[in-house]
Amino acid sequence: MTIAQNPEAARQAASLPRLDRARLAELAEAALTAATRAGASYADIRIGETRRQFVQAKEERLDEFFESSSPGFGLRVLVDGCWGFYGARALEPGAMAAAAERAIHNARAVAPIRVAPVRLEETEPHEAEWIMPLGIDPFAVDAPEKVRRLIEVNAAALAAGADYCVSSFSFATEERLFADSRGSRIFQSRTRAQPSFEVTVIDKGSGRYATRESLAPARAAGWDYALSCDLIGEAARAVEDARRKLDARPVEAGVTDVVIDPTNLWLTIHETVGHSTELDRALGWEANFAGTSFVKPHMLNTLRFGSELMTILADRSQEGGLASVAFDDDGAPRERAEFEIVSKGVFRNYQMALGQAHLIGAERSNGCAYADDTTAFPIQRMPNISLAPNPDRCSLEELIGGVEKGLYIVGAGSWSIDQQRDNFQFGGQMFYEIRDGKLGEPVRDAAYQGRTISFWNSLDGLGDSSTYRLCGSFTCGKAEPMQLAPVSHGAPAARFRDVTVLNTAREV
Ligand SMILES: [Zn+2]
Repeated sequence: MTIAQNPEAARQAASLPRLDRARLAELAEAALTAATRAGASYADIRIGETRRQFVQAKEERLDEFFESSSPGFGLRVLVDGCWGFYGARALEPGAMAAAAERAIHNARAVAPIRVAPVRLEETEPHEAEWIMPLGIDPFAVDAPEKVRRLIEVNAAALAAGADYCVSSFSFATEERLFADSRGSRIFQSRTRAQPSFEVTVIDKGSGRYATRESLAPARAAGWDYALSCDLIGEAARAVEDARRKLDARPVEAGVTDVVIDPTNLWLTIHETVGHSTELDRALGWEANFAGTSFVKPHMLNTLRFGSELMTILADRSQEGGLASVAFDDDGAPRERAEFEIVSKGVFRNYQMALGQAHLIGAERSNGCAYADDTTAFPIQRMPNISLAPNPDRCSLEELIGGVEKGLYIVGAGSWSIDQQRDNFQFGGQMFYEIRDGKLGEPVRDAAYQGRTISFWNSLDGLGDSSTYRLCGSFTCGKAEPMQLAPVSHGAPAARFRDVTVLNTAREV
């Protein structure tokens, strides 16, 4: 791993040679051959490199610069129905034979505590190469240029009256070869970008302060996307929003109707639907790290998850989707990951990785595996998971027009949810009053809470595609040791009735 803590070293790191794919293929071949010769009934390997960069500026200065380049491989073997795994950084032939030995040793070591043998479904081999269409490679852009752009954002915020502004760019590129003992050889390359800032405005008289974070979403995209987000323009608007929050009346706690913007709703979808419908959680395998789920396998095709308006789609094909890729880390093609998790309100499908499908009587996995590094064991992770927009015309104004008294919620804020993915509480960047179908002034100190099933069943208004937006996160955490996955969630604006709204500043 090479790590650069300053821009000069980063320039050198960015000019490292691209991966030699023929060499990766040779190493993969060596590892798989060694594994199968030593007794593995199945073996697969992810081998390649992940590059990451994080640049942060506070006011007029560079605050943090980090760049890493992490080559590596992870070999997974199946021996007598037990998984064994070994991952390392060294990309050399000697390491492959040693890895096969260690992975098989690990599989045999867990055999005495095996509950049931791992059973793999049939998979067809794929030979493919998928390079994500990319505008400007962010790693080819000089670090000083990135710092200059961030300082411009901060300057715009300060000029508009902010007391503080911190802004950042995060970038990552994954280049990875997947190969398995059934003949798959898949090389993929993808890049993602997350532009972000937060402004703070202080009321010197009262000592109170308000913040507003940027709404520009993380995307699978390059430097050109980061530039297109107009952070400078948004910074001035964010300062105005923060000032309005400072002057705003406290929210009136109680039960009320809410219209939720996709910039907020994506996180609610992630926590309540995305995580609750992961099969490993439902089976109790994933319990330690805020795991498990209230959505049990016997609820398949019967649980009324939400109202008729609720259809939740999984995919790996939305342009800009952080989980968009041609094959998952089990080598399953993206077509497999096109499915409905919830269909017109009814729970229809779990997300599954290789070897899980038969546990609920399904034929095969639906392409939901990801390893956050080549050296990590691939686990079940979310594809893009989105709320389908209303096929009938419905604008944001119409949704708001249907509310006598309520709130319009914009931007993701704080969040909390129990390990069963049931009881939740979400904040937001802006809460605006709605009165008699008209948008009013912002209120402050608001959050909404509820329980997953009753919340989604209170969905009674859904915006059409004109209100749809794809948002998401670089860093969905799961498992121990924790793995961080990028994932996008699209949503239209949506209206929910009788939602409990809290005043978070009121003393309990
Ligand atoms: Zn998550």
